[in-house]
Amino acid sequence: MENCLFCKIIHGEIPAKKVFEDEKIIAFDDINPQAPIHILIIPKEHFASLNEIPEEKKDVLSHVLLKARQIAREKGVAKSGYRIVLNTARDSGQEVFHIHFHLLGGRKMLWPPG
Ligand code: 5GP
Ligand code: ZN
Repeated sequence: MENCLFCKIIHGEIPAKKVFEDEKIIAFDDINPQAPIHILIIPKEHFASLNEIPEEKKDVLSHVLLKARQIAREKGVAKSGYRIVLNTARDSGQEVFHIHFHLLGGRKMLWPPG
C-alpha cells in the first residue's frame, strides 16, 4: 500500500526497532512510548482498521493476540499485567490507518482510559 507508514516499515523503507517477525505479522517498538513496554503488532497485509478486516481473514486477529501474549511473556510483563489496545476509526484516536495492536506494559494502567 503506497504512502502507508506501517507498510513502509514492513518493507524496510522506514526504520523500526523490530521485536518479532514471522510470515504474517511484525512487531516493533512504538516511536512515542506510553509505557515502559509499548510495542505495535501489525499484520503484514494492509487493512486500514478492524472495520476493513474481512471475515475470511479472521485468523490473523487470533494470531496477533497469541503473539502479543508471547511477546508479553518474553518482555517479562505477562504476570504483572499488560494491556492490548486496538484503536478503530476517528473517535478512538486512531492516527495510522494500517491496523495495529498496541501492547502496553511495565506500569500500572488506569481505567477508564481517556
Ligand atoms: P494510533 O493512535 O493510530 O492507535 O497509534 C499510532 C501509533 O503509532 C502511535 O502510538 C505512534 O506513536 C506510533 N507511530 C507513529 N509513527 C510511527 C513511526 O514512524 N514509527 C513507530 N515505530 N511508531 C510510530
Ligand atoms: Zn499499510
